[in-house]
Parts: sequence; structure tokens; C-alpha cells
Amino acid sequence: MKLLHQPLRLLAAALALFTSLTTPGWAQDNAVLNLYSARHYPTDEALYEGFTKATGITVRRVETDDASLLARLKAEGSASPADVVLLVDASRLWRAEVDGLFQPVKSKLLESRVPATLRGKDSGQGPMWFGLSTRARVIVYNKALIKAEDVATYESLVQPKLRGGVCTRSGSHPYNLSLFGAMTEHLGPAKTEDWLRGLVANMARTPKGGDTDQIKAVASGECQVALTNTYYLARLMRSTKPEDQAVMGKVGVVFPNQASWGTHVNVAGGAVARHAKHPEAAVRFLEYLVSDAAQAHFAGGNNEWPVVKGVVLDNPALAAMGPFKSETIPVSIVGMNQVKVQQMLDRVGYR
Ligand code: FE
Repeated sequence: MKLLHQPLRLLAAALALFTSLTTPGWAQDNAVLNLYSARHYPTDEALYEGFTKATGITVRRVETDDASLLARLKAEGSASPADVVLLVDASRLWRAEVDGLFQPVKSKLLESRVPATLRGKDSGQGPMWFGLSTRARVIVYNKALIKAEDVATYESLVQPKLRGGVCTRSGSHPYNLSLFGAMTEHLGPAKTEDWLRGLVANMARTPKGGDTDQIKAVASGECQVALTNTYYLARLMRSTKPEDQAVMGKVGVVFPNQASWGTHVNVAGGAVARHAKHPEAAVRFLEYLVSDAAQAHFAGGNNEWPVVKGVVLDNPALAAMGPFKSETIPVSIVGMNQVKVQQMLDRVGYR
């Protein structure tokens, strides 16, 4: 039996280019991987098939939005079948981390491929999660009403000239909690709270809708400026719908704070679930996602940037947005600041 198994094992291992050859008996123990994903892009499917082809491990998916995913993980507790968890935004990853939903991952490959600033907390047993793609939070402005140089920084959004002109989604949405968490790191809490108060004073309307709704409201002139994640812009840029093209014709994009600390950058990330039944397969999967080919698919599928340096993307929208200076603070700190930020939002009446 052993003689028969050995060549099979070698063949499988040779196919698994991205992981080590030293895991014994994985084909039996880890033939299935249960993936809980808050991502739902058709391009991800090809990615999972590639993993199965390379490793023989079948991927079973649960796909739902981030909040439901976290609620489900909590409710399932130690009975949860989840092995890998994919979430977007450092604030959500941090929340899941402190709620004890992840376990630390020790992997030389992941540590060599994912920059240290794009990982979760490491208490000595390895990081609690790894960033897998990045997105920037940028300013979008109405070209007929505003000049790019007038909104070159996040700080500029509170200038009196923009009174009644600023639109954002809810202040408590993870994307804003993280941006404000980053601001807290850059400016300190007192100045950030003043800034948030200024933002509320400049609102064109009560915060509502998602990032795409803000972009459209800027195009229509209801707002002069707004905040959005870059992939929503890229989606509109690549859209063939005339109405989307009309929207993009009316708005300009600013990567804020290029002359200071850089534009706020966030991550979509992955972790091994606390009660993973197939922890080895889970680590292999995360390692697979940082291979060059997987990075290009994973990031490009949602118009994001890879976390691994040197990976080339064939994405005209991202190319059009050009290279930019991003902030260098650890996203784990950004996520952690959200508790402080939520208190500030309550104090300044930012809904
Ligand atoms: Fe989003």
C-alpha cells in the first residue's frame, strides 16, 4: 500500500507548486476545504477550480455578505465547518479577529509574499489574517463645480467652500470607519474629531446609499464631492452602459494626500477559521491565493491591486488611475481604531 501511495503523493505534490511537499497524508485528511467568502465575483470561480486542480482539494463555498458571514461563524461556534474566511476591509477583519473567529497562521510563504503592514495582529504564533488585495479610498468630484487642486487632501473636505457639497455613505460603514481610523493615526484623535465635525457640517444630505450612489450623486450635481473605494470607479469606467459612461464623463478622481502621508489603502483578506477542521488545507489555500497567477485573478476580478509586489495586472481602469502614493501605517491599527472612531461619530452626530 505504501509503495502505491508514494508516487501518487509525489504527483499531487508536484502539481501543488505553491506549497511544501512535507505535509503527510493530506489527500485523505484535507480533501475538502470549506470556504466562507464575502466575495461573489464570477472570476473567483476559476480561481477555486485552479486550486482543486493543483491540490486535489475540493472547495465548498458559503457565500454571503460580510455581516451575515460573521454572524453565522459566531452562531456556529466550534461546530462551524468553516476552514477559510474571506472578508473585505480591515475593520471587519479586526472585528472577527477580536471576536476570536480566526486562528494564527504560520507560513513562511505568506509572510514573504504579503507585506507586514497588510496583515493582522501577530502574537508570536503568526498573523491572525493576511491581506490578499488592496483598494484605495479616494475623492470623487464634479468637474463642472470643483477643481482637482481644491480637493487634494481628505482634510480639504471640511473647507467652508464645500458647505452643502459633501456626500458620503454612512459614517459607521466599515469603509468609512477604516478611513477615519487611518485619519486618527495620521492626525491624532482630537484633530480627527474636529475634522469629522467639519465633514458633518458640509454634508449635502444625510448619509445614505453605497459608494456607487455617491459617485452618481456627484455626477448629477447633488453633491460636489464624495468618498469612494477605487473598485467602484473602475467598475463604472469599464462599464459599456451609456449611463455609466455619462457618469464617468462628469466626475474627476483625486488620490488624496499625495504630498503628505498618502492615500488611505485598505484590504480584502483571508484567515484560517478558529475551528477549522482542515487547517492544513486552509493554509495551502491562502498560500495559493498569493501565487502570481492567483493574485492577478483575485485582485483583478474586483478591480483591486494585488498585495504581492511585481504581479502585473491587465486592467485598463486600474492603469488609467495610475500609480499613487499610499499610506504606510499597518491596516491592523486602522481596524483597531474603529471603536474610538465610532464614539467620535456618535459625538459629532455623523450617521
Ligand atoms: Fe465594496
